[in-house]
Amino acid sequence: MKKIAVLGSTGSIGTQALDVVRNHLNELKISVLAANSNDELLEKQIEEFTPKAAVLADETAYQRLKARYKNKTTKLFGGRQAFIDAAAFDEVEIVLTSMLGFSGLEPTLKAIDAGKNIALANKETLVVAGEIVIKRAAEKNIKILPVDSEHGAFFQCLQGENRKSIKKLLLTASGGPFRGKNFNELQSVTVDQVLSHPTWNMGKKITVDSATLVNKGLEVIEAKFLYGVDYNQIQVVVHPQSIIHSMVEFCDNSIIAQLASADMRLPIQYALTYPERIFSSTESLDFWKIKSLTFEKPDVETFKGLKFAYEAGKTGGTAPCIFNAANEIAVEKFLNGEIKFLDIYKIIEEVLNRREIIFNPDLETLIAEDKISRSIAKNLIV
Ligand code: MN
Repeated sequence: MKKIAVLGSTGSIGTQALDVVRNHLNELKISVLAANSNDELLEKQIEEFTPKAAVLADETAYQRLKARYKNKTTKLFGGRQAFIDAAAFDEVEIVLTSMLGFSGLEPTLKAIDAGKNIALANKETLVVAGEIVIKRAAEKNIKILPVDSEHGAFFQCLQGENRKSIKKLLLTASGGPFRGKNFNELQSVTVDQVLSHPTWNMGKKITVDSATLVNKGLEVIEAKFLYGVDYNQIQVVVHPQSIIHSMVEFCDNSIIAQLASADMRLPIQYALTYPERIFSSTESLDFWKIKSLTFEKPDVETFKGLKFAYEAGKTGGTAPCIFNAANEIAVEKFLNGEIKFLDIYKIIEEVLNRREIIFNPDLETLIAEDKISRSIAKNLIV
């Protein structure tokens, strides 16, 4: 029985992870559930999975649940610090980091320091602090198992391979809901149009990121740190069917790809059960139905998210942190109806222009940069 902490249990990845656990109660056990503020769903999850501990980061939500809480088996905690501490809970072997954005960094580092393996769904952690996270994980001899479908695909393709023989990582992208659209057509797209992703069912933030291609950009940086390659070894390939989840080209020009139905439960499960493969409820692929797989070059002039990410990644230092912070705020503003879709790019570009890059930042510097970049993004009039 592998004992798991799910940080961000009420979100899209968190609930799908619980679905995986539900199907494998003999192999997987939930020890800790931690959520931000959804007290009603967390309460249901506590009843079903009876973890040792449960946490609500949001103080008001915690007080709400505490007032009606009668459970004797699961200890309930509240507050941001309790959320971070949940990552280091004694019996836990693997921590699934499925919380939102930059807030995932501190709990992830806490888990690493406590010697827990990480099932990494919070890509922002690696984008912002990839060097620090990878170095600490190596020092502690812990595994970072990617949950992101593309990085999970790389991980599968690389089993038994020497990383030195990687020539190229071919990172596939669905292209999002606006693939093929031009700049003018994107001027007036609505939140609802952005939120209807063609192939993946995901949380709101990542769905907006998929439409801007910022998500693919974050994934380029994530891949760089996970697999230690150069940026010029990472090539994004638009593949609208989302059947190939990514591919690795080796030094002999041989390519290994991982294929499966577009179902996040599969990469979540592989990260949780690795190195074992076990039964999965993910639908089997039917090639007579698929018929064809197609590929395109990404349009980086219209969907600037990818271009900004490569630039920020190559610059290094605090640049990816600034890029991420500006994007998180821009996405919030877009979802709140405060800005238009294309203004997301304007905010990212403007915040990156205004900030001086600091190289080899420590954790404190990154936390400070995140704050400053956010406040600039918040106050920008576009
Ligand atoms: Mn992905």
